[in-house]
Amino acid sequence: MSTDTAILQRGLQDQGIHTLLVQFTDLNGCAKGKFVPLAHLGTVLGSGAGFAGPSIGGTGLPRTGPRSEFYARGDAATLQPLPWLPGVARIVGDGYVDGQPFEACPRQVLKRQTARLAVRGWHLQTGLEPEFFLLRRTPEGGWAPADARDRLDKPSYDLQSLPRQWPLLHELAQHLSACGLDVQQIDHEDAHGQYELNFAHGEALLSADRLMLFKLAAQAAAEARGLVFSMMPKPFANQPGSGLHFHVSLWQGTQNLFAPQAGDDADLSEMGRHFIAGVLAHAPALCALSAPTVNSYKRLTVGESLSGTTWAPAVIAHGPNNRTAAVRTLPGRFEWRVPDASANPYLATAAMLAAGLDGLQRRQEPPPAMTADLFTWSLPQLRTHGIGLLPQTLGEALDALEADDVVCEAVGETLTDEFLRLKRDEALAYARHVSAWELERYAAFF
Ligand code: GLU
Ligand code: MG
Ligand code: MG
Repeated sequence: MSTDTAILQRGLQDQGIHTLLVQFTDLNGCAKGKFVPLAHLGTVLGSGAGFAGPSIGGTGLPRTGPRSEFYARGDAATLQPLPWLPGVARIVGDGYVDGQPFEACPRQVLKRQTARLAVRGWHLQTGLEPEFFLLRRTPEGGWAPADARDRLDKPSYDLQSLPRQWPLLHELAQHLSACGLDVQQIDHEDAHGQYELNFAHGEALLSADRLMLFKLAAQAAAEARGLVFSMMPKPFANQPGSGLHFHVSLWQGTQNLFAPQAGDDADLSEMGRHFIAGVLAHAPALCALSAPTVNSYKRLTVGESLSGTTWAPAVIAHGPNNRTAAVRTLPGRFEWRVPDASANPYLATAAMLAAGLDGLQRRQEPPPAMTADLFTWSLPQLRTHGIGLLPQTLGEALDALEADDVVCEAVGETLTDEFLRLKRDEALAYARHVSAWELERYAAFF
């Protein structure tokens, strides 16, 4: 063991840590890992903790031979004691196979993209905004909001129901703060049982690591109370869904490259404009990675739902502080509103970054900024203004991904192939499913 590792180990021991949770994120954005006694920190930082590669969804690794073993090699910078698991510190692992960085590890995919910025002296800042549901199982085996009294018509910011979840939300915020996240606000969102917790933005890789930490902390807090923490994009048909908006800015040192020139009243600099042009041009392919489940497309639907606005985008457009477009611009940054909480945050960020860089390289111009409430526009109206729709099904998004060389290249061949294979299976399984809604509507009708 190197001296540095011995010092690190002793420091952790002094904090009462006896076990590491070596964690990585699979293709589905789910945290995976194992417990490793602290005495083996040297191995975790060296070759990494070993896992059966083919058992990790989306790796496409073989069942035998040297490439069947997936190693999560700990990134020492991520070491963090977990307040809800006393004595345990999490360490995020990067995927390695056969001694090499594994090309289909989502964290490696994001590192490849941020490395493209680093050679230019740039870095990407993201703020990820998780919306989520707190659910409970009903005696009939169904799903309901955790708070049975959450009944207001449009409960955004509701202060009757928010305090009822305070013990859970406060504990979650405290745990996250103890892990170094700067928790900024917690509110009741627009659906029954739906909340949002925001923490400060940071470097793109750190933000993705933090989102995974947030998920672990939230799952633990909900489970301790017999509840289910859910980042399913759209659990209830007649209620808004959960987004995972990305606030994005590009920096050189301490200079925000997206900030407009003094005296310019546009939200974004020329670089920012080119960047969002790339994001919008690649939006259909980005959907596959930012909204990757069949359920995602129940959130990104066109037109107002029966219960009113759901605040999820459906059209490929941008506008100043326009929450009805896929891209909302703000001074010096933009909000990419498409991602939902079923996305793998590393992949969604990597793909968005590759799209933005493509726009920058080609000096692409975005379409005209829209100030109108696009939720109220009809399809012919959108067409007249040349505004395209986001994919309306997972299958459509997968076709767009397959046709998009820039995004496929960013994700890498192995992961793209695995992603398309698994997700086409998911789309097909869903297409064949006959729902209760269909039986209700058609069984006795024809
Ligand atoms: N829940 C909305 C969505 O699905 C977003 C609401 C908001 O803007 O905070 O994207
Ligand atoms: Mg929100
Ligand atoms: Mg937002």
